[in-house]
Amino acid sequence: MKKPLSIYVHFPYCEIKCPFCNLNAWEEKKFDENAYTRAIRDELKALTSEMPELLSHYEVKTVFIGGGTPSLFSARAVGGVLEFLAGEFEISNSAEISLESHPASCGREKMRGFYTAGINRLSIGAQSFSSEKLKSLGREHEARLCFEAFENAQSAGFQNISADIIAGAAGETPQAFEKDIKTAAATGVPHISVYGLEIERGTQFYALAKKGLLKTPSDEDCAQMIEIAAECLSAMERYEISSFAAPDAHCRHNINYWRSGDYIGLGAGAHSHMTVRDAPFGLRWANPRNPREYMEQTARGKTAPRQALDAETGFCDCVMMGLRLADGMDLADAEKQFGVRVDVHALEKLENNGLIRRENGAVKITEKGFVLANSVIVEITGKTKPGE
Ligand code: SF4
Repeated sequence: MKKPLSIYVHFPYCEIKCPFCNLNAWEEKKFDENAYTRAIRDELKALTSEMPELLSHYEVKTVFIGGGTPSLFSARAVGGVLEFLAGEFEISNSAEISLESHPASCGREKMRGFYTAGINRLSIGAQSFSSEKLKSLGREHEARLCFEAFENAQSAGFQNISADIIAGAAGETPQAFEKDIKTAAATGVPHISVYGLEIERGTQFYALAKKGLLKTPSDEDCAQMIEIAAECLSAMERYEISSFAAPDAHCRHNINYWRSGDYIGLGAGAHSHMTVRDAPFGLRWANPRNPREYMEQTARGKTAPRQALDAETGFCDCVMMGLRLADGMDLADAEKQFGVRVDVHALEKLENNGLIRRENGAVKITEKGFVLANSVIVEITGKTKPGE
């Protein structure tokens, strides 16, 4: 039986770099979509000639076109990439094929084009349905565009739609956030991701915050907003720290990441992770982040250097991803797979503090633990020892 594989394709360009964003996104008003999609094809050709088993031993279960702003690309270019992948790989008939989009490039025609090209799941980076909040996030459009984006996607035929919403914008109160998240829920989309605003190094917001020019809500208010999100979206399942979904609308592509499944990433800055015979603890690699450097690399027929993980790194990655899921992970199984041991006292302490619970062989972070998820994960992975 063939093994499941996910494919991520990164489209790195954005019309404007949002001041909070630390993703591999490049502000580019004009870009050559033909040259970029050619580079993706060249990369895949080079990769599969080095790893021919990718084509013979795997079946593609999910494809995710992320960015950047993939919706800036034409439906023709997106369709061309999907056709190329389908020509190379065995793609499951029920594959989830997602595309990330920005409300400003979700016009009616575009949405129809993407749907016809084979995209069956749309993730709309709305961030908010309030014009005032969008402005404070540095978004240069009115909330009206967000509403239109969802209407256009739905009328094009998309049912599997996700909305991204940020919590904790400058000046935002828990009451204002509640209104925003309720508006998101009222769109009727079956999947909503809620992210607390992080002031990340290298962003415009980081520079402003350092000068004392950005006043974001207190940690308590931000924690309250996440609680409000969980309450307002209680009709959905919170299946991951930031993700809420109706039944059957879970993002299968992301679940594969969180379960440490195999995936290849194509495009500038894209990461890959495979578990293969020669690298039982995982093999990973990442492309150059700069699109120009990436295209130069692929034009030379080169791929990024691959790195075999040691047991401890592989285990930490696996725990970091697996514990994000509400279903948790089988820690004992991972200990066996990577040949390491977690300190039982650390687990007991976390359990006694109500941050994790053990259930049917799985270790799960509790609702209380979700707020402190990073510390919980560090507590577990930091006390890992080689197995006996
Ligand atoms: S549109 Fe999305 S990817 Fe692009 S800069 Fe803004 S948040 Fe980042």
